[in-house]
Amino acid sequence: MEDSIFAKFARGELKPDTVRFEDNEMLAFDDINPSAPVHILIIPKEPIKSIAEMTEAQTGIVGRMLYRAKLLAEGLGIAKSGYRISFNVGEGGGQIVPYLHLHLMGPTPPKGL
Ligand code: AMP
Repeated sequence: MEDSIFAKFARGELKPDTVRFEDNEMLAFDDINPSAPVHILIIPKEPIKSIAEMTEAQTGIVGRMLYRAKLLAEGLGIAKSGYRISFNVGEGGGQIVPYLHLHLMGPTPPKGL
C-alpha cells in the first residue's frame, strides 16, 4: 500500500491541524477543506487502503469507526439536525487519499435522487 498523509497521521509522524478524538485504534480530525459546517475524517491506525481492501477481521474496527462518528455527531451538536457519513471507495468512488477514512458531515443539504 502506497504511503499517504493519512498513513503518517496514523503512525503519529504528522499531526492533523484539529484532532477531535484519538485512542489506540483510531484518529478523528477536521477535514482541511470542509464541505459542511462539521466535516470530520475518521481513520484507523491499522493501515487499510479502502473498503474494497477490508477483510472480515477488520469489520470490528470499521464498526467502531461508525459508532465513533455517531458519538462525535452528538458531541458536536449535529445529531438532531442529521448528518451524512460516507466512505469513498477507489478512484471511481471519489477516493483521493489511498488510506481508509470515514467522512462525517453535517448538516448537509438534501440531495436529489
Ligand atoms: P477522499 O476524496 O474521500 O479521498 O477525501 C479526502 C479528504 O481528505 C478531502 O475531503 C480533503 O479535503 C481531506 N484532506 C486532505 N489532506 C488533508 C489534511 N492534511 N488534513 C485534513 N484533511 C485533509
